[in-house]
Amino acid sequence: MKKALFAGSFDPFTNGHNDILTRGLQLFDEVTLLIAVSPSKKPFLSVEDRVAMLRSTFSNTKNIKVDSWSGLLVEYAKQKQIKYMLRGLRGLGDFEIEHHMDSMNFNLYSDIETVFLASRGEHAYLSSSLVREVFLHQGDISKFVPAEILTQMKRVNK
Ligand code: ADP
Repeated sequence: MKKALFAGSFDPFTNGHNDILTRGLQLFDEVTLLIAVSPSKKPFLSVEDRVAMLRSTFSNTKNIKVDSWSGLLVEYAKQKQIKYMLRGLRGLGDFEIEHHMDSMNFNLYSDIETVFLASRGEHAYLSSSLVREVFLHQGDISKFVPAEILTQMKRVNK
């Protein structure tokens, strides 16, 4: 069984992430959405809320797992015997960061392989930070996040 790890802050999970996830599921039997917890960053949505949102969004999809982790991603991959990282590339900025991350991960765990998917069309400019900004200014983000995520965001931000 080919398992992949799609890690990110997902704060919030956007249609750009969803596109990478959907296309990743064509390549892998199972994808774990891993909320990577950074102790130095103050998140917009709590880890617990993000886990709950993603679990409820994908509750009907057996081959999508949701988890959170505050350690090294390669340690999670090792423990769960996952050999692939799934990543999205929006442009040159992402490429440089992702390339360095791939080299570091390979140094830490040589069994890991990263698979990059280029973002398509309208998703290329989407980032969680922009979506957050629009949401916090009462803008309409319904085109940028899955419907279930928007419902949950409105609920936790009441
Ligand atoms: P963000 O940069 O939006 O905060 P994350 O840090 O959660 O997103 O990133 C997780 C992964 O998802 C990274 O590989 C990132 O390049 C990818 N990603 C984020 N937004 C998009 C998008 N709009 N299209 C394709 N890939 C994306």
